[in-house]
Amino acid sequence: IDIRGGNFSESEKELDKKLRPLQFYDFSGQNKIVENLKIFVEAAKMRDESLDHVLLHGPPGLGKTTLSNIIANELGVGIKITSGPVLDKPGDLAGLLTNLEDKDVLFIDEIHRLSPIVEEYLYSAMEDFRIDIMIDKGPSARSIQLELNPFTLIGATTRSGLLTSPLRARFGINSHLEYYDSEILTEIVKRSARILNVSISEDAAKEIASRSRGTPRIVNSLLRRVRDFAQVKGTGEIDMSITKHALSALNIDEYGLDEMDNRILYSIIDKFKGGPVGITTIATAVGEDAGTIEEVYEPFLIKEGFIKRTPRGREATELAYKHLGRIKYGDSPT
Ligand code: ADP
Repeated sequence: IDIRGGNFSESEKELDKKLRPLQFYDFSGQNKIVENLKIFVEAAKMRDESLDHVLLHGPPGLGKTTLSNIIANELGVGIKITSGPVLDKPGDLAGLLTNLEDKDVLFIDEIHRLSPIVEEYLYSAMEDFRIDIMIDKGPSARSIQLELNPFTLIGATTRSGLLTSPLRARFGINSHLEYYDSEILTEIVKRSARILNVSISEDAAKEIASRSRGTPRIVNSLLRRVRDFAQVKGTGEIDMSITKHALSALNIDEYGLDEMDNRILYSIIDKFKGGPVGITTIATAVGEDAGTIEEVYEPFLIKEGFIKRTPRGREATELAYKHLGRIKYGDSPT
């Protein structure tokens, strides 16, 4: 089963849609970002202008797409959705841009994966709401300038470190989404359970939240799987015992760590004596890109207290040793 999302079947997609908050009011957590966005949206509406371009960055599943849809809803405008790797040629982008209505939102997911030509093409669109397009071919080919409707570009990325500085500079609003605390995730579990029409006990909601790697997307998919177990093996209600049974059947780590998290910890402890060790060395050892480790995996491991950042590199903490059932180098077994 793919708990991390990605390979959803049709009905899972439908469920996912149902659980997606549609207004700021339904969106839990990320309080500071939401408070600011509410003001910027309100101000743009009062001036009857398009909202400034927004860059949302942070690890997968934390609500970047959800927030973008909410922004468009709250602005009362349409939204067109695309992604960096899909926009192959400037023509693809031009097609989208010229179809935007006044003050619409254009959402580009994985914006760090735009090709350099498409990216450059985006600059004048973002800055002056204007693009140059080529018409005709051969000797009569010439470029003409097209005026666009004012629009808001919302770019989402898990790897803001890969964004070029000219692109980054063109976003007036820049927000970083953080992993969620378990209290907020517990609220999200309860809200989702209400929407799915299934009753859940407080302790079961907390348990699911604490095993979800700080990520609403994982919370929702775990909840759906636990609900399956409750329906087939239990009474249909989600209590602590069916939750524990389901989570252990699904092999969910007690701290919600995923395979790459654990590989990183094993590597620091077993290959580098617990550190300190540099991020590029860890990256080579686990076969992942250093930037991805730094922007996607490490923030969660640091937040939960499994690794520490020191001037000489990353170190595994007591908690990491305990979690992997290892004994800290230099400690004697008791
Ligand atoms: P991202 O674009 O950052 O990868 P998404 O916006 O697709 O993440 O969020 C994944 C799922 O998690 C959404 O379908 C939504 O139901 C849920 N979700 C995300 N953030 C929140 C939140 N703050 N409150 C409630 N549900 C959320």
